Amino acid sequence: MSAPLRLGLVGLGKIAIDEHIPAIASNPDFILAAIASRNGSDPQVPCFHDLATLLTQGPEVDAVVMCQPPQPRFEAARMAIQAGKHVFLEKPPGVSVSEVAALEQLARDHGVSLFASWHSRFASQVSYAREWISERSIDRVTVAWCENVRQWHPGQDWLWRPGGFGVFDPGINALSIITAILPEPLRMVSAELEFPANRQAPIAASLQMESPGGTPVDAQFDFREVIRQRWDIRVDAGTEWLNLGQGGNIIKVGDESVELGIQGEYPAMYRHFAALVNAGASDVDAAPLQLVADAFMIGHHRVVEPFID
Ligand code: NAP
Repeated sequence: MSAPLRLGLVGLGKIAIDEHIPAIASNPDFILAAIASRNGSDPQVPCFHDLATLLTQGPEVDAVVMCQPPQPRFEAARMAIQAGKHVFLEKPPGVSVSEVAALEQLARDHGVSLFASWHSRFASQVSYAREWISERSIDRVTVAWCENVRQWHPGQDWLWRPGGFGVFDPGINALSIITAILPEPLRMVSAELEFPANRQAPIAASLQMESPGGTPVDAQFDFREVIRQRWDIRVDAGTEWLNLGQGGNIIKVGDESVELGIQGEYPAMYRHFAALVNAGASDVDAAPLQLVADAFMIGHHRVVEPFID
């Protein structure tokens, strides 16, 4: 077995603590060598205020995991790549499509692996859904990604700033699944985005997309759902239907539940990252981000009541 990859991690927030650090600890291919955090610390790991300090004064690292919000991520990712480090980006991979293309080019130029991760693509039932769809002619796809922002994103001010995505922060997870399970690319046909009067990012969005041949794919994203929170994708094919629920982690086909094994999203992503680095490859797909960009570009904007966190 080769030596574990030494990781630096940037941004000690919710996702780093809940998912990345446990997933790294459970994978012998990695060791968490250092952390860059402005406010936090971990007694087990050397911590530095920022990535520049980590890279110049910290222990040697082979790769850097970016767990900060998307707005400051490009500069940090560029710095890591230019220092010859492999990079694992949390989703969304950037605040713009052009930013992701720039990172992909930089990674190629510096001979390092870039993993623009989409954790929902690693949800346990996504590959089953892709296979089910590949064997049928699809009539319609309907997405409902409706959650209570106060429960899941308390105090995350960055979410409401430009580049923070608002309701597209979770909604892009649904887009990452549908772009992975449907065999053809989607185009954004129309969109309506609801912006709180005091915020720079939408609190709800209604999207109409379609396949090149015209199969409709409709999505409803809403941050104001308190009673019936749901993260569902329904696919209709003739008299048959499939429902991918809980963000891709449970599945129902017609009236029957299909039992499949549980596979944690983050442990699976770290196995994938190790394989990419070993193969000298990258995995960068900006298709979900492109759909968000298109929704902002062609969508009608409607101002709704202010959102107070
Ligand atoms: P969070 O709890 O707000 O944590 C983000 C951390 O990034 C902060 O605690 C801060 O840590 C650091 N940071 C660096 N620059 C920052 C800046 N300009 N503004 C704010 N924080 C900054 O956010 P999160 O929920 O972990 O989300 C981070 C990323 O992970 C987002 O892109 C999100 O879409 C993605 N994600 C989140 C979840 C989830 O369930 N929360 C799930 C999947 C993916 P330091 O004090 O250490 O610098």
